Amino acid sequence: MSGIYRSSCLAHDIERFLAEEDHALAQYPVCCRCGNHVQQDSIVRIDGNYYCDECLNALRESIE
Ligand SMILES: [Zn+2]
Repeated sequence: MSGIYRSSCLAHDIERFLAEEDHALAQYPVCCRCGNHVQQDSIVRIDGNYYCDECLNALRESIE
């Protein structure tokens, strides 16, 4: 039954890894448009709301 023990151990490791990743992500601000943690060097904040570069590009319209 060592196989079962190993898989449960792996599941525990993954769980712990994901928890650590969540903790690492938590320090990044959340983009108010897409809801993702923004892992960039800088971020745009408008009226207290954060926007990631991807969403800023999506919001940008060209003027003809
Ligand atoms: Zn975004």
